[in-house]
Amino acid sequence: MELARRPVAGDLERAGALLAAARRIVVFTGAGVSTESGIPDFRSPGGLWTRYDPRQLGFPRYVSDPAARRVAWRLRRELHRLDARPNPAHLACVRLAEAGRLAGVITQNVDGLHTDAGLPAELVCEIHGSGRLFVCLDCGDRGPMAEAVARVEAGEEDPACLACGGIIKAATVSFGQRIPAEVWARAEALTVAGDAFVAVGSSLVVYPAAGLPRLAARLGTALVIVNREPTPLDGLADAVLHGEAGSLLPALVEAALAPEAPGARR
Ligand code: NAD
Ligand code: ZN
Repeated sequence: MELARRPVAGDLERAGALLAAARRIVVFTGAGVSTESGIPDFRSPGGLWTRYDPRQLGFPRYVSDPAARRVAWRLRRELHRLDARPNPAHLACVRLAEAGRLAGVITQNVDGLHTDAGLPAELVCEIHGSGRLFVCLDCGDRGPMAEAVARVEAGEEDPACLACGGIIKAATVSFGQRIPAEVWARAEALTVAGDAFVAVGSSLVVYPAAGLPRLAARLGTALVIVNREPTPLDGLADAVLHGEAGSLLPALVEAALAPEAPGARR
């Protein structure tokens, strides 16, 4: 793999200039975009994986082990906090959309905050599904997660499907589940259509999701990585910004939309 193919410049100015020249910007987000909304990520210190056994969270175990489901329902109250609000990173994506420069957001997040921030559904591709909904694994019945959570809070540790008695689960893609083919095709098509790709708040170690920034780099699309810490794909990027998504992404969008920026829309 050609990891250090292109020079890496770590500054906002370079990243801003790349985005100023772009017309169809794809923003790819991970859990780090929502930590400033109070939703913990997986891998940061204090993140969910430092407190829960990841083997308990996988799909095969969820189906076969009622104890794992009870843990998952307890965890849900923390992970899919239904009262979380979008932060400036989510709002920066909306600003890009309003300026007509956002091709779409591809998100690994299941928290629904991009839509809450005001992005129209057709601009959001949730490759890991939505924690705002539950789905029955047997009959496919779906409903608002708030209803299932209310049942848990009323004392049901592992609420069953009210239609068929089957196992219900968040409508998310858990470890061991596949991303639906049409969702993945849409994410790939967006990546191919973009003329810049900004990965924000993702450790870029979860596959196949992390294959998308790799694809962008392979296509020669300008790749910008914004994250609190280094990622394994930093060497592929045209610019890398280390810091907080809630301040860096708005600054980057401002730079991209600045009227004096070369190539910016007037
Ligand atoms: P991850 O936990 O692997 O990585 C998050 C990255 O974001 C880390 O590298 C961390 O340093 C960085 N980060 C944390 N806060 C940040 C901030 N404020 N600004 C900039 N960077 C910050 O998350 P991932 O790459 O998205 O992969 C984990 C998987 O877990 C995803 O598939 C996702 O579906 C799921 N997940 C989703 C949520 C959510 O919906 N909010 C929360 C936890 C996990
Ligand atoms: Zn059912």
